[in-house]
Amino acid sequence: MYKTKILVRFDDICPTMDFNQFLRAISLLDKYKIKPLIGVIPNCLDSDLMIEKPHEDFWHFIKKLQARGYTIAMHGYQHIFESNHRGIVTRRLGSEFAGLPYEVQVDKLRKGKAILSSHGIETDVFFAPAHSYDENTIKALSVVGFKYMSDGKSPKAYMWHGIKCLPCKTGGCPKIRNASNYTAVFHAHEWVRPEKAVEYDRLVDLLETHSNMIVSFEEFSKQRCGNRWGQKLLEKCFVHYQAYIRPQLVKLYFKILKQ
Ligand SMILES: [Zn+2]
Repeated sequence: MYKTKILVRFDDICPTMDFNQFLRAISLLDKYKIKPLIGVIPNCLDSDLMIEKPHEDFWHFIKKLQARGYTIAMHGYQHIFESNHRGIVTRRLGSEFAGLPYEVQVDKLRKGKAILSSHGIETDVFFAPAHSYDENTIKALSVVGFKYMSDGKSPKAYMWHGIKCLPCKTGGCPKIRNASNYTAVFHAHEWVRPEKAVEYDRLVDLLETHSNMIVSFEEFSKQRCGNRWGQKLLEKCFVHYQAYIRPQLVKLYFKILKQ
C-alpha cells in the first residue's frame, strides 16, 4: 500500500521578514521534530516583505537551520514581478520569471545562486514567487545547476529538461485525503493578519494529526515520476478546472441552495 508523504514548506524567508512569526513556526516544528523545506529569497526587494530592519545574523541563522536538517530552497531572486505573464500553472497575472527571455531568466538564477553561495549556502532546489514559471524557467534552472522544483499541479512528479518537478497543488495547507504526496505551504509573516491567523491553526492541526506522515525534503524528493506527457496533460486539465469550471460549479451550488 502506498504511504502518504507530506512536505512542509515555508515561503518568503529573507532578512527583513517577521522573525517573531517564523520563530513561532520553528518552535512548533521542533515540538514534532519536523524538518521543513524553506524558500530563501537571495536579494529580496519586495516591499511587502520589508517588515523588520534587516537582521545582520540572517545568513548565520539560515546556516544553523540547514545544519539542523532544514532544506534550503532558492525562492526566486528578488521576489518582485517583472512581467505580466501568468506562467504555466497559475491564472494570476504577474511573474518574476514567466514570459521573460531565457537569457534573462538564466541571469537571475545565476545571480541568486551566487548570493546564496557567497553566504556558504548551496542548494539544488527552487520554487518561483507566486508559483509562476514557464518552460524557459525550467531550462534555465537546469543550466544553472538546479535539480528540483517544488511546484506544479500534476498528480505525480515528472522530469522536464532534467528538473524533477515535485507538485504543489495548493497554495496553502491541503486537506489530507487519499494516500498521496502533499506539499503544505505556509507564509508565517501573514499570520498576523486576522484573515490569515487560521493558517497557523492549520499548521498546528496538521502537526497534531499527521506528523507521522511528514517527511524531510530528501525523502519527499525520492517519489516516483509519472510519464511527463500524461502528467502535463492532467496538470493542464486541473489548472483549467480550477480557473474556469470550479468557480461556475460553486456559483451553481449557491444558486441551488438559495432556491
Ligand atoms: Zn514568495
